[in-house]
Amino acid sequence: MDSKREQNLVIKGGTLLDALSGEQSRADIRIRDGKIAELGSNLPDDGDFVYDASDRLISMGWMDMHVHFREPGHEHKETINTGCKAAAFGGFTAVACMPNTDPPVHTRDVVEFIVKRGRETPVDVYPIACVSRDRAGKSLAEMADLKAGGAVAFSDDGSPVYDGGLMRHALEYASMLERPVINHMEELSLNVGGQMHEGAVSTRLGLAGIPGLAEEVMIARDILIAEFTGGPVHVAHISTARAVELVRNGKARGIPVTAEVCAHHFSLTDSEIERHAFDTHLKMHPPLRPASDVEAMKEGLKDGTIDAICTDHAPHASFEKEVEFIAAPFGILGLETAWGLIGRELIRPRVLSVVNAVAKITVAPRKILHIPLPELTPGNAANLTIFDAETTWIFEERHIHSKSRNTPFVGAEMVGKAHAIYNRGYLVQNLV
Ligand SMILES: [Zn+2]
Repeated sequence: MDSKREQNLVIKGGTLLDALSGEQSRADIRIRDGKIAELGSNLPDDGDFVYDASDRLISMGWMDMHVHFREPGHEHKETINTGCKAAAFGGFTAVACMPNTDPPVHTRDVVEFIVKRGRETPVDVYPIACVSRDRAGKSLAEMADLKAGGAVAFSDDGSPVYDGGLMRHALEYASMLERPVINHMEELSLNVGGQMHEGAVSTRLGLAGIPGLAEEVMIARDILIAEFTGGPVHVAHISTARAVELVRNGKARGIPVTAEVCAHHFSLTDSEIERHAFDTHLKMHPPLRPASDVEAMKEGLKDGTIDAICTDHAPHASFEKEVEFIAAPFGILGLETAWGLIGRELIRPRVLSVVNAVAKITVAPRKILHIPLPELTPGNAANLTIFDAETTWIFEERHIHSKSRNTPFVGAEMVGKAHAIYNRGYLVQNLV
């Protein structure tokens, strides 16, 4: 990967894809002082650096609204800097990072620390702050102050906001602050030591199961609380068919509920754990589900019930994952493989068009988080991703830019490649 500061350049020969209108057009882009200066055909280079984007698509920069960058506190897994490298390789110019760090993002100084660290990279880093003090689920954090410091949403991710009364108050504030509460949907009493999805495969393997019910009960509760308070609730990492149905019904009734799905939840089923003999790189929360749920993710994406695609990029060091299945932590990397899986599972089989897929990682997350859209319009800061949706390639260990290695996709086929991002005056090119 090559990252350099390049304030002035011309991107030639690409096809611009407008994720808002769905329109595509051929145009060169002139960037001056990091801003889009001009769009047109056959723009002269005027001695500036030329990026050849022939046969490539260009859209506003991609955003992953759910990553874990582990800083502060667990820098041996990932730092904001290494996480942003993984993001850039994956084609993302923006991420929103979850607050289950150490200390958690429950005070304004931690929010500001993350904003400051993010500014040292080519990627826009948006902190999500805790709903509760210490992420303990007992009393509300100072949500207004956290927003003032730069928080774009609130979540206790890793854990649910379990107390219904606390969720009610959080959504009342969320409504006033116009920022969503993103809940890790899990009714804890319905998941006692579960290791994988509860079903036929967990029974055969003799592993304690996590029933889809644990997720669905919490989503049902939160949709009712969102209806009662008018506060926006966002369903983190949705994974079951019944959960999609609940969100679909909630939306139909005009309740402010939105949802995201992780790329692995529309790419893999729980049977992989049997096939790959307890590979801990297949252990995540929510767990991989059966094929019927995977199909429901695709249906939900297609009909708009599921707004956004995210990764839940969750780095863990090798020594943490190289243990027995039941002792391993939950979570896998996601940023480097997201687009290749979107291409393989959604675009190639015509579940989504390229533009609809791109909208799920550009327009949707930013709308949910009230972040202005970096449209490809003269005058705007240049924030864009250069990619294709066809290149077939094999994901290899050398493509990992995260500090950790915990991905089940080494050796897997990917369809579609992110070739470069431009953001904050930096051109980052993937040369592998
Ligand atoms: Zn979670």
